[in-house]
Amino acid sequence: MLIYHQQLEELAKYRKQTDEPMVSLYLNVAPPEDYKTHLNSMIRTTRNELKDRMDKDRFEAVDRLFGTIEKHAKNTFHNLKNTRLVVIFADTTGFWQEYRLPVSLPGELAVEPDPYIRPLTTLMDEFERYLVLVADSRHARLFSLYLGDFEEHPDIFMESDVPDRVRVNVSMASGGGSGGAKVYQGLGDKRIEGHIKDQIHKHLKASADKTFEYFREKDFTRLIIGTPDDKNRPWLRDHLHSYLKDRLAGEFNARPTLPDNELKNMALETAAAYERENEKRIIDTLFEKSTSGSMAVLGIDPVIRALRRGQVHTLVIENGYKTRGYLCLNDHNLSTTETACPLCEAPMTEVDDIIDEMVEEAILHNSEVKHVFTEHPEFEKYHAGAVLRFSM
Ligand SMILES: [Zn+2]
Repeated sequence: MLIYHQQLEELAKYRKQTDEPMVSLYLNVAPPEDYKTHLNSMIRTTRNELKDRMDKDRFEAVDRLFGTIEKHAKNTFHNLKNTRLVVIFADTTGFWQEYRLPVSLPGELAVEPDPYIRPLTTLMDEFERYLVLVADSRHARLFSLYLGDFEEHPDIFMESDVPDRVRVNVSMASGGGSGGAKVYQGLGDKRIEGHIKDQIHKHLKASADKTFEYFREKDFTRLIIGTPDDKNRPWLRDHLHSYLKDRLAGEFNARPTLPDNELKNMALETAAAYERENEKRIIDTLFEKSTSGSMAVLGIDPVIRALRRGQVHTLVIENGYKTRGYLCLNDHNLSTTETACPLCEAPMTEVDDIIDEMVEEAILHNSEVKHVFTEHPEFEKYHAGAVLRFSM
């Protein structure tokens, strides 16, 4: 499902009409995660906190909503295809918004006056939203590709009235006289060819214009184009607005008449190649800056220190790598070794995944977070790195 700014705006606008507390849930549902147990324990903890700070009626309404969420989770979340994370915003008046995403985020349950959308907005910033234009000389189709989902926008489909070259030739030939027609055949061909070329250009320009309009309207971040590898490709490129040319992630060889799943696979491959290239660039920057000066650090402990000092511009982490660590519940101080908190001297709590906590810390400091999905053996020795805002 696409996360459009529109949907989040809807959520924000809704908030102005009610003062009921909003329940925000981030739940990892992919195995081996035992999401039912996890949800149950988050609800138990939150219930205990709410009991003390909410009046009785309101607390009971929220508690019923928890029951509804648990029932819904039990019935629908097992084995969701392509889904790792479910995000729900709901309140006691019946408002319900649900997102299903193929990436993980730290699990979270919040009951607050406002929806807790920060992790979701991070996802929006973190992943490219691709608009895929597939066009040939007669047809054009537009798809969105986001977090692995490929959806067509049927209202955008264009079938232009470009005359078929062969058919026109046949009708000219049959309409013409005998002997003389042959003499003019050459000229006629040229004229027809010119006419067809004009029509194709008109069609490609209209497709490019529509693409630009839609791209801006729906906040896409990258464009991918699929065309047959013939003259249409450079022609279409010429018609693209410079704004789109700057955001072109790649091209593939296809016609709009191909089945959707073939187009999807080609678009995914093109996006993956672009993302690999992008990841490589980030990792190169990381190694370059850490060897040539002190504007980057590598390794979990140095990154934790940089996070504590608010130095992190971009946190780079190996997706899927997990390791235990320790967290101070008072001030969110992190450590990979069990010590008393150096800031407040309280004992620290053990956590399953210190990298999750690092991501949270980075988000709190408005740092960018980049997940490395592809294999980079050099980087995998460190699991984490950070490009810094300033050195110390
Ligand atoms: Zn502390």
